[in-house]
Amino acid sequence: MFTLLIVDDDERARAFLQGVFESAHHQVKAAADAPTALRMLHREPCDLILLDIELPGVDGLALCRLLRAQEATRRLPIIIISAHDDEEQKVDAFAAGADDFIVKPATRRELLSRVSTQIEAAQRERALVGSNRELGFLADLGRGLLVALEPLQVVRRVAGATYEATNAVLCAAMLETGKVNDEERADERDAAVATQLSADAVGCVFDREGSAEGAALIDAVKMKRWLASAPATSVRLEDSEEFFLRDEAHCIEYVAPLRFEGRALGALIAAFDRAQDCGETESRLIDAAAQQGALAAHISSLYEATRASSASLAKEVERHTAEAEAQRRFTEAIIDTLPVSLYAVDRSYRIVAWNRNRELGGQGIPRGHALGRNVFDVLTRQPRETLEREFSRAFKTGQIERLEQESVAADGTSKHWLVSKVPMRVEGDAVSHVITVGEDITTRVEANRAVARTEKLAAVGRLAAGVVHEINNPLATIAACAEALETRVAEGAFGQSTEVDDLRQYLSLIHSEAFRCKTITNGLLDFSRNRAGQHTPVELSEVVKAAAHLLRHQKRSRNVEITVHASPDVAPVSGDAGQLQQAVIILAENAIDAMPQGGTLLLRVQNEGASVRVEVCDTGVGIPQENLARIFDPFFTTKEVGQGTGLGLAVCYGIVTEHGGRVAVDSVVGRGTIFVLTLPSMSEE
Ligand code: ADP
Ligand code: MG
Repeated sequence: MFTLLIVDDDERARAFLQGVFESAHHQVKAAADAPTALRMLHREPCDLILLDIELPGVDGLALCRLLRAQEATRRLPIIIISAHDDEEQKVDAFAAGADDFIVKPATRRELLSRVSTQIEAAQRERALVGSNRELGFLADLGRGLLVALEPLQVVRRVAGATYEATNAVLCAAMLETGKVNDEERADERDAAVATQLSADAVGCVFDREGSAEGAALIDAVKMKRWLASAPATSVRLEDSEEFFLRDEAHCIEYVAPLRFEGRALGALIAAFDRAQDCGETESRLIDAAAQQGALAAHISSLYEATRASSASLAKEVERHTAEAEAQRRFTEAIIDTLPVSLYAVDRSYRIVAWNRNRELGGQGIPRGHALGRNVFDVLTRQPRETLEREFSRAFKTGQIERLEQESVAADGTSKHWLVSKVPMRVEGDAVSHVITVGEDITTRVEANRAVARTEKLAAVGRLAAGVVHEINNPLATIAACAEALETRVAEGAFGQSTEVDDLRQYLSLIHSEAFRCKTITNGLLDFSRNRAGQHTPVELSEVVKAAAHLLRHQKRSRNVEITVHASPDVAPVSGDAGQLQQAVIILAENAIDAMPQGGTLLLRVQNEGASVRVEVCDTGVGIPQENLARIFDPFFTTKEVGQGTGLGLAVCYGIVTEHGGRVAVDSVVGRGTIFVLTLPSMSEE
C-alpha cells in the first residue's frame, strides 16, 4: 500500500483517479491546486504524485520543477497527466523533471501499472542510494578505526562518523576499558574533550554544534547498568525518562551496544529531534557503526594490554639496569678507595680493571689510556719478558705471588712496593684473570731499616762500652808507664848512650799510640753513652753558629769557606744542646774531609712546618750510591787507617733519633752532599 497525491483542478478527473487507486488499496490524497499540494506534502510525505499539467495559477510543470528543486522531494516519483497527446508538452514535462507522462483518458490498468512501475523504480533507487551511502560510510569508518588504537580514539571516530552520516543532533559513544592509569592518560585528556567517564570508562559526545564534547552528557551510571544487562540488540527509546543523554530537547534515542563475543564493551547513542529522522537507514547505519566499533574496541583492549605489559616490562628492565649500575659503581668505588694500586688482566693480557691509585704517582697511568689495551703496550717501563713470566706463572700455578720492588722516581726518591699477583677465577677452575696489587711499603721498609740500624747501634754500643772499659785501664797503665820511663830518661837514669835516644823515641811512640787508642775508645764511649740527658729549650741557630765558630779555628778547615744561613724566627727545639752541637760538628767535619782541595761549607737553619731543618751542604766528592746505605753503620769508613773511625755518622744518627728527629742525605758524586737534620720544634706551651 502506497500513499498517492493527486493534483487536478477538475473535480471529476480527481474522483475518477481516486476511485481507481483506492480500489487497488492505495491511500489517496487529492489537491486542486499547487499551493494546496505543497502544504499537504509538507505535512506528510507521499510515495508518488499524479500531476495535471493544466492548473490554475502555478501550473503542473512549474510545480514539478519546484518539487525537484527541494531536497525532500527531489527523488519523489512524479507522473504528469495531460489531455493532449502533444509531443512538445511531453518534452517539456520530462525537462521539468517528470518521471512519466500519461494522456487522458487512460485505462485503469494503464494507470495502475504506470504508477507501480514508477514507485518500484523509486524504491530501487532509494535502496541503491542508501546502500551506497552505507557502504561509503562503513568503508570510511573502517579506515578511520584502523589507526584508532586507543579506546578514546575509537569512541571519537565511531561517534563522529555516525554523527556525520545520520541526521542525529547528538551522537555519543562510550567504552568500558577496565583499569585506566590516570597518570599515563593525563596528557591525552585535554579540557575540550574531557573523556574520562569514570575510572574505567571513556566516552565522547558530538553535540548540536557538531563539536566533540566531554563525556559529561552521558549518564554513566544508567549506561553501566544497561551494559551489565548484556543487551543483545539495539533499542529505540522514545521516553525521555529512559534516555542516556542528558539533553532537554531530543525526542528519540537510538542506542546500539558495542558487542564482541557476547559481551557489551560499550555503546553508540544517536539522538534525534524528530521521529522520522531516525528511520530504517539510520538504524542500520548505527548498528553497522556499532559493530565496527566493537571490533576496534576489542583490538584496542588488546593493544592496551600489550602496551601496559610492555611498559611494565620496560620499567622492570630499567630497575634492573639501575640496580646493576649502582652495584657496579659501588664495587668500583671500593676498588678505587683501597689504599693500593690495582689492575687486572684477562688471559689475552688485556687490561680489564685499573683503579684510581694506579692512575696516581710517578708510575701512574690514566685509566682511559689503560683499559682495554694490552698490558705490555701500557706498562712499557717494565721489561716485557719479566712481566710475561710473572703473569704466565700466575695463570699456570694459580698461586698468589708476592715480591718486593724498589722504584726510583725522577727526583731520586725511592719507593718500596709489595707487588702481589693474585689469580682470579670468574667461572670454573681455570684462572681467567690476574689481579696485580701494588702496595706502597716505603714507610714500613724504612721503619724496619731504622729499627734494624738502631738495634745494631745498640748492640755495638753495648759491646763498645764493655771493650772500652776493659781497654781503657790497661791503656792508662801503658801510657803512665811510658810517661814514667820518659821522666826517668830525662833525669839521665839510663846514661847518655845512643841507645838512650832509641829508648826515648820508642817511648814517645808508645805514648802517642796509646793516646790515639784513647781517641778511639773515647769515640766508642760517645757512641755508647746513655744519651737520655737533660732536655731544655735549644736554639738551633745558636748551636750551629757556635759549631761554625769552633770549626773555623781548626787547622784542617783552612781551605774551606764556612757560611751560616739562619733565618731569624727559628723555633726552639727540646733537647741537649751539647749533643746536638756534636751532631752538627760530626756532619761538618765529614763535609770538610770531603773537600781536601777546598770548597764551601754551608750551614742552613730554618723552620719547616712543625720542625726545624738543619742543612749541612758541601761541595765535596759526594757519596757513591752503593755506599749510601752503609754510611750510618758503625765503623764504616772510606778514610785511611788513622784518619777515620767510622763512628761519626752512627753517633750523629743516635743523637738525632733520640731527639725524635730524622737524618736524610742527598749526594751527587763529584758535586757535593747535603745532610739534613729534621727536629720537631717545641710546641707552644
Ligand atoms: P768517618 O768520618 O770516620 O769515616 P763517618 O761515620 O763520619 O766516619 O762517615 C762515614 C763515611 O761516610 C765516611 O768515611 C765517608 O765515606 C762518608 N761521608 C760522610 N760524610 C760525607 C760527606 N759530607 N761527603 C762525602 N762522604 C761522606
Ligand atoms: Mg642504568
